[in-house]
Amino acid sequence: MSRLNSVIRRLQAQRDCLNAAAEMIKDHDGIVLEIGLGNGRTFDHLREIMPDREIFVFDRQIAAHPKCIPDDDHLFLGDIFETLPMAVERFAGKVALVHSDVGTGDEELNAKIASFIGKTLPAALIKGAIVASDQKIDVPGTIAEPLPEGVPQDRYFFRRYQ
Ligand code: SAM
Repeated sequence: MSRLNSVIRRLQAQRDCLNAAAEMIKDHDGIVLEIGLGNGRTFDHLREIMPDREIFVFDRQIAAHPKCIPDDDHLFLGDIFETLPMAVERFAGKVALVHSDVGTGDEELNAKIASFIGKTLPAALIKGAIVASDQKIDVPGTIAEPLPEGVPQDRYFFRRYQ
């Protein structure tokens, strides 16, 4: 497969997963956490498909398209090892969806981040909350949910909090 087709497939799968995750929480009130602003693509999509949800965004730096930067009140700027615990304390029991897209090229670091996110998140989640992530995250109290049709296994991961 050409690299162009590969990128297109990856992004289509990501969009399908975000659309599916939004659908999965449609009957649950709660806020959204977007972990990994990057250039703002997925943040922009989440706010487009969930215009009535409050979305809080995490990144250690701002490198997004100017139109895809949340206002200061919805931005946790800094290392998630510091900002995520603060957010979890503030939003205890209020989060309906977490989208985590912080994968780096460093597998060891990815595993460390995934482990930290997994053990930190539960206190923030409402019953029925979805954690959608680019890396496998074991979140205590959650079970795996199937991916949308056509998305290859291990391309994305869905967990639902019980
Ligand atoms: N979802 C984004 C998009 O669609 O444009 C892409 C996110 S990009 C793959 C990953 C982002 O995670 C980067 O912007 C990086 O700065 C951020 N990141 C990685 N490790 C982090 C950490 N420990 N704390 C805060 N942000 C981190």
